Amino acid sequence: MSRRFHRVQPPAVASVAGGGDQVSGLDHWMLRIPSFFRKMALFCLPALLLSCSRAAAPEVKVDKANAMRLLEAFLKIDRRESGQPGAKRAAEFIQRTAQGYGLDARIDSFQEDTADGPKTFHNVCFEVKGKSSRFVVVGSHFDAKKFAGFKFEGANDSGSSTATLLEVARALAKSGVVPPYTVKFVCFDGEECVYDYTGNDGLHGSKRAAAAMDLKDCAAMLLLDMMGDRGLNLTVPRDSDPRLAAALFAIAKQSGLEAAWFSSNMLDDHIPFQEKGVPSLDLIDFAYGPNNAYWHSSEDTLDKLSADSLGLVGDATLRLLLTMPDILGR
Ligand SMILES: [Zn+2]
Repeated sequence: MSRRFHRVQPPAVASVAGGGDQVSGLDHWMLRIPSFFRKMALFCLPALLLSCSRAAAPEVKVDKANAMRLLEAFLKIDRRESGQPGAKRAAEFIQRTAQGYGLDARIDSFQEDTADGPKTFHNVCFEVKGKSSRFVVVGSHFDAKKFAGFKFEGANDSGSSTATLLEVARALAKSGVVPPYTVKFVCFDGEECVYDYTGNDGLHGSKRAAAAMDLKDCAAMLLLDMMGDRGLNLTVPRDSDPRLAAALFAIAKQSGLEAAWFSSNMLDDHIPFQEKGVPSLDLIDFAYGPNNAYWHSSEDTLDKLSADSLGLVGDATLRLLLTMPDILGR
């Protein structure tokens, strides 16, 4: 990935979690309750309702050891830079892996002019059918940024999220649990820019997918990016949907996942969906090493990552998917 951009005002976290309307509907009978207890009930009810609905959702967990095995295998593919043979091999690895999990995975190849000349990109798409035709997009880019001066492994950026997305898909497909909304997994090529993110430089795969999909039935977009750091602390961009962010924070509190608001928005693959009105959440840790020093450096290597981090984010993603109607209040 990616980079941060302009600062915005923090969203009112306390007002999210879907409780506002429910509380106002209770005002009438609650007037008969003494003031102290009324205030306590108003404070606790949204969390209680959310936790009750979550408790009703089935549990599906990822196998973090499998996520790590996938990551190790994926990183054996050399030079995943967009337009290079390695990126095509990476797309084929993702397709083959998803097909091995019984999913109908297809590669969408397309050519675009870029700041670096014409390139062929390869998005990989597969889905798990839900109870509804409404759907959630779960995305991750899989290309690695091109650097001239050193060998860039891209273990965290973008190996970690690619492996975790595949393991989330496997766990969901094999569980037999039908998610409330269909889950469309998309592995994006061409996230990384060559020079900067202006014009047609970067976010190629996500722009292509967002343009190709009919998004009127798209309930939400969850993006995984750089989330395998051993010292994981998700830095949730300010432009994330407040309901999705509040749900993530609630899940994180229960699971021990570290997550907090970031200081700014983030330019990443969720943006093309967000610009089309899709509520989105970027699950990213943009504090990778001291002062984010491992990001886009020769230090982005497998030894900096942990299976626990892949597992925590994978499980949080599954939880979000299985409780999505409650989170969005519909
Ligand atoms: Zn990057």
